[in-house]
Amino acid sequence: MTVPPDPPSFPSSANQVRTLLVSHAAEMGGAEQGLLDLARHLGPQRCQVLLLADGDLHHILQRNHIPVSLLQAGGVFMGVRRAGSAARALAALPQTLLLACKLAAAARNHDLIYANSQKAALVAMLAGSLARRPVIWHLHDILDAGHFGWLQRHALALLSNTLTRFVIVVSAAARDAYIESGGTPGHARLVYNGIDPQPYDGLAETPRKTLRGELHLPPGPLVGLFGRITEWKGQRVLIEALPLLPHLQAIIVGSPMFGQDAELDYIKALAERLGVADRIKFLGHRPDVPRLMRAVDLVVHCSTSPEPFGRVIVEALLAGTPILAAEGGASREILGDTAWVVKANDPKKLAAAIEGVLTTDTAEELARLRARIVENFLLDRMMASLDSVIAEACPPPPRGEGGGGGSHSGQSRIEKSPSFLKKRSKRLLFPRRFHDPGHGLDLSASAGIKVFLLLFLQKKKDLLRSSRRPARPST
Ligand code: UDP
Repeated sequence: MTVPPDPPSFPSSANQVRTLLVSHAAEMGGAEQGLLDLARHLGPQRCQVLLLADGDLHHILQRNHIPVSLLQAGGVFMGVRRAGSAARALAALPQTLLLACKLAAAARNHDLIYANSQKAALVAMLAGSLARRPVIWHLHDILDAGHFGWLQRHALALLSNTLTRFVIVVSAAARDAYIESGGTPGHARLVYNGIDPQPYDGLAETPRKTLRGELHLPPGPLVGLFGRITEWKGQRVLIEALPLLPHLQAIIVGSPMFGQDAELDYIKALAERLGVADRIKFLGHRPDVPRLMRAVDLVVHCSTSPEPFGRVIVEALLAGTPILAAEGGASREILGDTAWVVKANDPKKLAAAIEGVLTTDTAEELARLRARIVENFLLDRMMASLDSVIAEACPPPPRGEGGGGGSHSGQSRIEKSPSFLKKRSKRLLFPRRFHDPGHGLDLSASAGIKVFLLLFLQKKKDLLRSSRRPARPST
């Protein structure tokens, strides 16, 4: 059974690093919650956030007094999909370069660029190279064919080998996929997500009946599925299991994000078609997940693709509620050896497992798994590990070398050179091998050639595929 290693001891040099956190997404998903937690932990003295789009995260950061600015990205850049075509990715290149230049300018007042999403990582890698700042990419996803196009995952992994200091992965499953896509093993730093236990304090002692009344939830056996509405989160699987469990009711908590509204219409229609619509409540996005999790008898996690981490698995146990997690991704890393991990995308197996949990005494297994969570997946542990990675990425300058206007490594050199952007652009466009011992960056001409080769191969693949596709009958 995998047990996460102890986090390294807290290095005091992390206290002096000024970090620029960057995200292209500002709607609140698991990754954005992680960024908010990190920003709160670092505080306004040690970090600033730069968002490439507006959304709830912007306002929440402001309410938490975290300095946040908006660098609105263009539509072509934002329109590039993870599994989209090479042509779209190429079309976004000018906007990507423009954003990189702007981010490089913003990064001059910081020691480190910390990218929290894929698109942000791409821009940050280019900007870090221009501004000579180390870059950390916090990879919250599994870089596999189920989620990403061939070009996107290989290009990102390949670029990260050269243009980031570290890639933080949220599980061993995410690390394996990163390496499979071309990431260097020694480059990855495994830091499991951690959940703030404070909103769950005392909840496990609150009787379910009391909460149900307060939340206007029905009595009787009740399961809950929590997460954004999108096909791979598997709301369909739970709906398809319900006809096999005639006495069960369900709440589906979460809303569509990133333009996935059609999935909500689809699952509502599916529930009608299967005759279970009157047993499901769609509650939309809710800020009171801990209370809702405590109010249900069982939380189900139904992801049909491997889950990079799955915060909801940890949250259910903190709420003192049993959880059935879909097999694949990080589920086993979080839960270890238990019968509460079920085959993914199989409504019959899910129905049988739900029946099993609801008709047996779960107290012992619940206590065992909760203890495992408290030991390994709380926020403090995650933040201690992130502090260590940040300190490792920005070691203090050797004695006698620091000086200048910067707070940490590298700062003074940049500010002495007003034309640095021009010089760095030249170096990025016409890369030559150089090594900067201050940041451990090693930008080689071969990396540039590899990326252009990848773009070329993908374009060729697209063309071949479209030429093989049978011609549409004319109407
Ligand atoms: N969540 C929420 N309100 C909702 C649905 C979900 O606050 O209505 C939160 C949930 O509690 C969890 C996060 O969104 O903290 C989802 O994280 P997870 O890792 O499960 O999935 P991701 O969105 O990262 O794929």
